[in-house]
Amino acid sequence: MKSKYAVTAETFMDVYKYPQKYAIHPFKIFGNLYYVGNTSVGSHLIDTGDGLILLDTTFPHTYALLINSIWELGFSLYDIKYIVHTHGHFDHFGGTSQFTALTKAKTFLGAEDAKMFRERPELMLLRDCPYAYLEAFTPDVELGDNDTITLGDTTIRAVSTPGHSPGVMSYIIDVTDGKRRLTAAMHGGAGFNTLNLPFLREFGLDVETTRGNFLDGITRLEKEAVDITLGNHPNQNDTAGKRGRMLADPSAANPFIDPGEWPRFLADMKKRFSLMLEEEAAGF
Ligand SMILES: [Zn+2]
Repeated sequence: MKSKYAVTAETFMDVYKYPQKYAIHPFKIFGNLYYVGNTSVGSHLIDTGDGLILLDTTFPHTYALLINSIWELGFSLYDIKYIVHTHGHFDHFGGTSQFTALTKAKTFLGAEDAKMFRERPELMLLRDCPYAYLEAFTPDVELGDNDTITLGDTTIRAVSTPGHSPGVMSYIIDVTDGKRRLTAAMHGGAGFNTLNLPFLREFGLDVETTRGNFLDGITRLEKEAVDITLGNHPNQNDTAGKRGRMLADPSAANPFIDPGEWPRFLADMKKRFSLMLEEEAAGF
């Protein structure tokens, strides 16, 4: 059985061959929070006042775009002190070894994904991934639930939300423009491509436990009050649409600030997950 939620080599082949097609100009989301990812996968930069925090490093083949985005905003990649990862899939840590070779940045990853790197490294590449040469990195810090990361005037709280991978960390981030402090948040692994039945069976993962963990994670995130919903992939929070609205009318209210978006996003994810289970039961 082939699930429509599966990810195949074709999914990644285009970005693998033509990474430049996925480039977009970086921009300020709010205050000290910036978008530096590409059109396929997210990456965010936080200027803490005492160095930079980079949240995810995108695909192996897009790290040059990421470096360019950081320079284009006027920052130096040598000021990156922490690289914080949402989870241990290649599209989120693909550039990490390049950054740690160039900078002294300390790396953070959920403890269970660090374990996955050691014990089940095939899981970091997903199915049919073209980046077969990619090696895992050894994080300096293995994160557990509710751990906090503090640098300068920024604190990031990790919320364990496994399922998409065993060690997915969602992040609650306090951000500021110098006048007010807002809360930004990201679900660290919202994709169903590792939660569909063929994938779980192929890799010998327990179906009930994995899916139960995923739903528990959503329930825990529902308790958070969030002003800015970030996307682990930019389609999850309509990054491009909001950026377009910002450019069209810079004097209008910031489209990224919307306290209603977080509960809508989580509710939608639950609904789509139920739909996948219904389709699965119907034999799609
Ligand atoms: Zn992933």
